[in-house]
Amino acid sequence: MQFEKVIGQKEVKQHLVEMVQQNRLSHALLFLGKEGSGVLSLALAFAQFVTCTTRSGKNNTPKAEASLSMFGDPEPAPEPAAAPATHLTDSCGTCPACFKAQKLMHPDIHFSYPVIPKKSGDKPTSSDYATEWREFVANSPYGNSFDWLQFIGAENKQGNITSDECNDIIRKLSLKSFESEYKILVMWMPEYLGKEGNKLLKLIEEPPPNTLFVLAAENEEQILPTILSRCQLVKVPLLETADIEQALIEKSNAPAQTARQTAGIAEGNYREALQLLQHAGDDWQTMLREWLNAALKGGPQAQVKWIEDIAKQGREKQKQFLRYFNHLLEQSIRIRVMGADRILLPDQEKDFAQRLNKIASVSQQQTLIEELDKAAYYVERNANAKMLFHALTIKLYHIIQDKALFLTE
Ligand SMILES: [Zn+2]
Repeated sequence: MQFEKVIGQKEVKQHLVEMVQQNRLSHALLFLGKEGSGVLSLALAFAQFVTCTTRSGKNNTPKAEASLSMFGDPEPAPEPAAAPATHLTDSCGTCPACFKAQKLMHPDIHFSYPVIPKKSGDKPTSSDYATEWREFVANSPYGNSFDWLQFIGAENKQGNITSDECNDIIRKLSLKSFESEYKILVMWMPEYLGKEGNKLLKLIEEPPPNTLFVLAAENEEQILPTILSRCQLVKVPLLETADIEQALIEKSNAPAQTARQTAGIAEGNYREALQLLQHAGDDWQTMLREWLNAALKGGPQAQVKWIEDIAKQGREKQKQFLRYFNHLLEQSIRIRVMGADRILLPDQEKDFAQRLNKIASVSQQQTLIEELDKAAYYVERNANAKMLFHALTIKLYHIIQDKALFLTE
């Protein structure tokens, strides 16, 4: 992947490019950013940038090298090297190294990621899932570990970066690089490394020459502290709303209006934006109005009907709905602070957000936001939808005390 294909993150890209250009590469980098910010895409683009031969000017031809060293012949005279293109701020995308990196088939770029046993007693390594990995990255470079584990059929199994995988990493990185100046290990989701990850400490601390560790992670607190402390941190911020909007138009052919609205709700998370786009035709507002009416003045019968309706929707849709409500609550708080005129929202949404301000105070709104976040977390982890929305309906009722000024249409 080239940097230009990675959404937004202009400053991070520039920082990475400068590190390479000025030869300030740390041998262990940890790209850390929340879901949907693009840590994996950035890691892939970075690895490709490092190996791109147009950039480095180091055009090794693997054939000549392999045959000569095999018979112990003297090192061949180096090919007249092209001058390194030090001004390049992106990989060329067309040299043989880029070509292989793009297909995740470069022999010097290795990958580690959580996997599951294929059958019980199996000791899986990442290489066992190389084909699936290439397909997943090609289709969902902004996916999260949940998406990946579902993709390889984990269902309720926990993924893991296993002890055998660590041994495999040590073995791979002890080899001489094949084609590139550098050997690179891209580890996605080091959060899945248990204690066995400590096997890698020595390697991370004193790696063989020209070895780079590139870790791409989402949750700092779930990474082994021993690993964390040995890596140079590259912080990846949430995406800008405008960058998401543009990407939805360019990559998913979303209509401008839909793209704007979706990007607004996605809150810097491109994965979320794509999920929302799939449900862009859904009428979240009607659903929300019905819920509020049922919870606050409809009584048990109306509540049960609404809960049964939403329980029938898929998990993804339930989550989108919770997220939409959260988005409106956040907008309503912003309206309080900045004034309605300065908030850019479709009229209907703005009107709804203003009504929310009439029925709930800021602290009530904040409590609701927390509850909705928690609920989304449990929905993702297979909670029973009926029980969850039932409990949430009761909470909603208790949180919002002033029911007099209720939303009516
Ligand atoms: Zn290239």
